[in-house]
Amino acid sequence: MTISLASTDALLIVDVQNDFLPGGALAVPDGDAVVPVLNRYIGLCDRRGLAIFASRDWHPENHCSFKAQGGPWPPHCIAFSRGAAFASLLEIPCSAGIVSKAQSADRDAYSGFQGTNLEALLRARGATRLLVGGLATDYCVLNTVRDALARGFQVLLLRDAIRAVNAQPNDGDRAEQEMLAGGAHPIAFCDLES
Ligand SMILES: [Zn+2]
Repeated sequence: MTISLASTDALLIVDVQNDFLPGGALAVPDGDAVVPVLNRYIGLCDRRGLAIFASRDWHPENHCSFKAQGGPWPPHCIAFSRGAAFASLLEIPCSAGIVSKAQSADRDAYSGFQGTNLEALLRARGATRLLVGGLATDYCVLNTVRDALARGFQVLLLRDAIRAVNAQPNDGDRAEQEMLAGGAHPIAFCDLES
């Protein structure tokens, strides 16, 4: 099955930041494997003139999701730190829109739509279908896809460009099943008309 891209498609790259890669503060196993695959999607979408957005966790030092504040996670993605930077090999074009989330100390946001203007940015570009990949399948990708579907966007889930934390075994599989049951359509790069 070949999928043709349309001008109403947009690429949404979720949280591909150093702290979520192997060696980072909150590493997703095999997380760096998404980078070369996402670069292929970026290249294709950029050549087609499609909108490209990248979300990022962008926390203050005392963020509520950190263990010292009673949250579940070690400190990660502190704004302007090296750990918060996008993966150095990720080829995000300068024209891409950057969406920072969970910037206030008292709120966390797994979804790129939560507390951001992402929906308005997508609507302004005329996007109706989103190609979504990044990290991690069972947290920020899942919640971003949930919110996209709830807002009426179609979603192509880039199954070759996501990786899961799997804090509990099979969390990633369960997240994928939920996204597909909710209406997301799974694809791999080879499914796209080049
Ligand atoms: Zn975070």
